[in-house]
Amino acid sequence: MRLHRRTVLGGMAAATALAPMGVLAAGRRPRIGIVGGGIIGASTALQLARAGAEVTVFEKEAPAAGATSRSVAWINPVVNDAHYMRLRLESMKAWLEDDSQWRMNAIWGGSISWAYGEKKRDELAVKAKLLAATDDPPRMLTSEEISRVSPGVFAGDDVSFAFQTMRDGHVDPVVATQRYLAAAKRFGARVIYPCEVMAVEMKGGSLAGVQTSKGHFPLDQLVTAAGTDTPRLMAMIDKPLKLAHKPGLVVHTTPQPVVTRMVYEASSIIEFKQYADGRFLASFTGGPPNLPQHAEILDHQMPYPDEYLRQHHGQMLIDRTARYIPAIARGKATKILLGFRPYPLDNRPICGPVPGAKGVYAIVTHSGITLAPILGRYAAREIMSGEVAPLLQPYRPDRYIPA
Ligand SMILES: Cc1cc2nc3c(=O)[nH]c(=O)nc-3n(C[C@H](O)[C@H](O)[C@H](O)COP(=O)(O)OP(=O)(O)OC[C@H]3O[C@@H](n4cnc5c(N)ncnc54)[C@H](O)[C@@H]3O)c2cc1C
Repeated sequence: MRLHRRTVLGGMAAATALAPMGVLAAGRRPRIGIVGGGIIGASTALQLARAGAEVTVFEKEAPAAGATSRSVAWINPVVNDAHYMRLRLESMKAWLEDDSQWRMNAIWGGSISWAYGEKKRDELAVKAKLLAATDDPPRMLTSEEISRVSPGVFAGDDVSFAFQTMRDGHVDPVVATQRYLAAAKRFGARVIYPCEVMAVEMKGGSLAGVQTSKGHFPLDQLVTAAGTDTPRLMAMIDKPLKLAHKPGLVVHTTPQPVVTRMVYEASSIIEFKQYADGRFLASFTGGPPNLPQHAEILDHQMPYPDEYLRQHHGQMLIDRTARYIPAIARGKATKILLGFRPYPLDNRPICGPVPGAKGVYAIVTHSGITLAPILGRYAAREIMSGEVAPLLQPYRPDRYIPA
């Protein structure tokens, strides 16, 4: 069985060959289950299916029902860590491939990030410095230049630092997930929903199968791509895992005349963008402020307590975003979504074999829209052939999950 080597494999070229450790060593078509039909499960399903595995995706609600549908879906390299930035840049290359091959309709318009105050200026300056060392160096902007580069966008006179990047993009994350799953099905994958994985069966420390709401499935390998439910999946195999709790509010508006293709990040307060069909999307970046009435949402996942509060928060987000892009105020909220980020405690991906649980591979990450193409490729390669992806080494589950 051959892997498709035309795909972007980044650091895999230098990977250490560990064969015959992968599931291919079993000598027959491996049965691989994936828990979660979000963008990570979908991308991984495609890569595993095209590499020859017999793939089944189990999704307890519907494809993209979790964090994926509540995402800003900015595909970007903008972080404060050189290694992590490299992983994201690799994924952006893979995104270009997937975009053209699977018709994801991503918009590659670049982005503008700006800061207010000294603390945010210093934080953004670190990211700009790291970006300056890549092949996508940022262009520094003044407040006036932001409006010149992007007419209709106003950052205000008190901007302390700002830059533009040229290559990043954004996507409709639900469309992208559907495209991945459709492509995976063309390679023979099954996508079953609603179908909840309720138990993971291990025999003598090795995976045997899963018990689901639709019956028992014997498996050679399991990939958990269950987002914020990953700790629950790990608990099924007695592996404790804690994630950070990070709620986020997102609003989509009715379509308006298209004024921009970029993504904007305003000082870790608000992010916004506009789709090609004119819908605006805005999100509070920092989560709910620490107020007594937010005690519950700051503690655990929950829906809006009532429709009034949902509408109130949606309108508040549109009004706040209109300070930067007045055109959004002409739109009406069509979706007001409360999302919960799958957020490892160090805000770095967790990706790799689960220690002490042979046959179980975990992927959970924030920035999963940015990272889905590369994590899908690396995970499939590691599982199928046993080759280790050097670029994944800092992101292994063993930093949080004991053997
Ligand atoms: C407000 C917000 C803004 C964001 N902005 C960005 C951004 O700009 N750029 C970016 O790259 N990322 C962003 N993210 C993060 C990104 O959306 C996530 O990292 C990504 O969607 C994670 O995808 P996933 O497939 O791992 O998880 P999910 O999309 O949550 O999918 C997990 C799936 O697993 C299913 N599941 C769980 N348990 C079981 C079970 N036992 N059996 C069967 N199915 C199960 C769930 O139903 C769910 O559909 C943002 C997230 C939020 C919430």
